[in-house]
Amino acid sequence: MSYKAVNPFNGKTIREFADATDAEVEQALKKANAFYHAAKKQPVSERTAQLERLAHEFTAHNEKYARLLTTNMGKLIGQARSEVKKNVEFAMYYVKNGAQILQPIPYNNIPDKNAHVEFSSIGTIMSVEPWNFPYTQIMRVFAPNFIIGNPVILKHASIVPECAQAFEEACIAAKIPEGAFKNLFVNYEQVNHIIADPRVQGVALTGSEGAGRKIAAEAGKNLKKSTMELGGTDVCVVLDDADLENAIEGAAAARLNNSGQVCTAAKRYIVQSEIYDDFLAGIIDEFSKRKLGDPLDEHTTLGPLSSKSAQENLHQQVKKILAGGAKVLWGDPELPQGPGALFNPLIISGMTLDNPMYDTELFGPVAQIYKADTEEDIIKIANHSNYGLGGAVYSKDIAHAKALASHIETGQVAINQPLTSYPELPFGGVKNSGYGRELSDMGIREFVNAKTILN
Ligand code: NAP
Repeated sequence: MSYKAVNPFNGKTIREFADATDAEVEQALKKANAFYHAAKKQPVSERTAQLERLAHEFTAHNEKYARLLTTNMGKLIGQARSEVKKNVEFAMYYVKNGAQILQPIPYNNIPDKNAHVEFSSIGTIMSVEPWNFPYTQIMRVFAPNFIIGNPVILKHASIVPECAQAFEEACIAAKIPEGAFKNLFVNYEQVNHIIADPRVQGVALTGSEGAGRKIAAEAGKNLKKSTMELGGTDVCVVLDDADLENAIEGAAAARLNNSGQVCTAAKRYIVQSEIYDDFLAGIIDEFSKRKLGDPLDEHTTLGPLSSKSAQENLHQQVKKILAGGAKVLWGDPELPQGPGALFNPLIISGMTLDNPMYDTELFGPVAQIYKADTEEDIIKIANHSNYGLGGAVYSKDIAHAKALASHIETGQVAINQPLTSYPELPFGGVKNSGYGRELSDMGIREFVNAKTILN
């Protein structure tokens, strides 16, 4: 049994789940396909109402859903409640806007001819999701695809099985039609089998670069459209003219939220020389205020990592970084004692291009800091990465910050605030951070047949 919920704060096993059988996989594919065909005859307004019921289900039982996030992957209970709320916001965006975005688009730009493009469903989508935002990662794929009529089969991360099951139970409570959503506790081989099945027409992965390479290869081999939402080493640029207090607060939140396990977390601070010392003093102050502990305790402000193996992996990465010549500017690199996956926040400097860990995504509360004199240097450091997910720029001169943001090679940059996702805005990356966009109008058009009709 590879799907197991273990409380990362105390190491206690909560529950194990049986692996899906091949017969269950086939049954799920059959039911999904039946939903796909039935949805073609169903007005979008019916699915819109059903999705709204799902949103209400999460709102009505926020605490129940939130606690599972905290016990399965260690998210602070307050942040868990916020994730459930965000899950509702993602669903409601498509409730309010999905049908409108899918209206046909006229193309009357050929003399003496009329044409339009209409959007329709394509088939089942295989969704492979990570543990760091266990509900919203599912909703980002499920809500838009449900509105268009594409069923979704989910393979969730093996450490959050109770969250995967809870999402399915929420769908049942909201009377989402059978076949529209199915969670399966499948192994990698079964995922490949599902991707290859002709009833499946799309693959949506959120996860690491390594998983992206493997799953995108399977999708490519089978000529299936895919979206890849992968990792990053996002920068947080603080210019000399930044509002220091706002920059410190934003930079600390962007590195420490979700115990630093966010794809768009501020993993590298790049600070201009004049403001560097003041920023460093402020960020140390912010980091040292964080209280490490039980994520169910409302007073805790930094929870554990998601698992013992995540803790061990990050610990090994930090050791290699230090062996490669970098230094701990602040924090204790030793692991806290105990059965849980707690990790002391750290600030590291002296990361050089020849450090074997340069450009490695650090998924935890470890910030790297760089001092830069000129904007040329800032852009060079920011773009010296194979990743290209997000970033942030802090400056009182908004026009200037925007111009700098345009030079950062990522899919999104926030000005004077931590980068986060909004249902209204496209979310995704470039380079090894993947391709495709989730959320917004772009998200709903990823897995559609955009059919041109000419007369
Ligand atoms: P992961 O190890 O890549 O796992 C992600 C999902 O892929 C899990 O369900 C995992 O299953 C599955 N998986 C991995 N290899 C597979 C394979 N060969 N075949 C089929 N399934 C496979 O990533 P993670 O540690 O859960 O999540 C952290 C990563 O996700 C970070 O890199 C983070 O930056 C990224 N992320 C990106 C975004 C974004 O929007 N760009 C958002 C959130 C997170 P198992 O659990 O069973 O291994």
